[in-house]
Amino acid sequence: MSAPALNAPAERPGLWGWDRPRLEAWFVARGEPAYRARQVLSWLHRRGVEDVSAMTDLGRTSRAVLAASFATARRLPEAVFRSADGSEKAVFRLDGGATVEAVLIPEEGRNTLCVSSQAGCPIDCAFCATAARGFERNLEAHEIIAQVRWAIDRVGREGLTNVVFMGMGEPLANYRAVAAVCRLLLDPVAYGLSRRRVTVSTSGLVPQMHRLAEELDVALAVSFHAAHDVLRDRLVPLNRVHPLAEILAACRHYLACRPDRHVLVEYALLDGVNDSPDEARALARLLRGLAVKVNLIPFNPFPGSLFRRPEEGRVAAFQDVLTRAGVFSRVRRTRGGDIAAACGQLAGEVRDRRKHAPGAETPCPSPRAA
Ligand code: SAH
Repeated sequence: MSAPALNAPAERPGLWGWDRPRLEAWFVARGEPAYRARQVLSWLHRRGVEDVSAMTDLGRTSRAVLAASFATARRLPEAVFRSADGSEKAVFRLDGGATVEAVLIPEEGRNTLCVSSQAGCPIDCAFCATAARGFERNLEAHEIIAQVRWAIDRVGREGLTNVVFMGMGEPLANYRAVAAVCRLLLDPVAYGLSRRRVTVSTSGLVPQMHRLAEELDVALAVSFHAAHDVLRDRLVPLNRVHPLAEILAACRHYLACRPDRHVLVEYALLDGVNDSPDEARALARLLRGLAVKVNLIPFNPFPGSLFRRPEEGRVAAFQDVLTRAGVFSRVRRTRGGDIAAACGQLAGEVRDRRKHAPGAETPCPSPRAA
């Protein structure tokens, strides 16, 4: 077998995904000062300069070694769809051909970017469009940062206020890349986002929840969807490996490590399945004593889905039970439903979906990709 070509682009790691500790170690191992990492991160993430030769405070040799060691070209979206409500969905095609999607949601006073961490998802939740597509692979950190860069193209560095790992994939199943991206998002020399405004959402990968509690100062969202194991086993098959008691213990560990925080409990409301007042009472009992806020997500349908969205009255009744029990909750408004960009609708097969919903989507060229 012949050796791979030296410095072939695909062989070089993506510099956009390297966080400060990793890049510092890389420079130190080459006998250079650790602060070079700060310089590079600032050029890339703060100023958006991807051309290493333009990083003028680095010195010629450092620049040459960096350029030879890393890939720095940014990946741009293949297509962007704009919803009538102002949210936008970008579709990225990865090396290997899979597509992933990111959604930018403008709200009063803030812009939230919902990023994908995997192409497809291995968790197989019964009510999620991503699950129906199967699992392809983990994203590299630089492939997640590419989604962040797209959002910054749209709203500017100051304009991007919140990043949530609630797109395609189970972020904690891709812990290393997600942790690197979180560090970059929080790092003042890179994105400098407030630690309250970076949220990792998990279906309940308990060992990684414990790890996150100790290592990353980010907000934690946990997808409950049921208040007892029999139902949750059906909705989130991972529950058979890590049942509710384990998930609650991991939430307590997180709250013990981060006493000033709460856990965001996500609960997709599925008509006639988990949306009765009894289920609400059970949920309130389950969460008693924990610092939580509940996010109720009325089911977002997708082609071929087996569940239905409950009527508004049922949603209100569910919420009412929680409120009476002293549990704070909010109903997540559906955003981007017309471009299949709402929670659980990201599936990545853009051509198919255009076929399913003719006229419902308005393709608009991305400013950079066009
Ligand atoms: N894998 C992560 C992120 C998933 S997306 C997790 O499970 O937490 C964010 C939320 O949307 C999760 O709570 C997920 O269960 C929920 N969701 C998935 N499909 C949905 C759908 N069709 N309607 C409403 N919510 C959905």
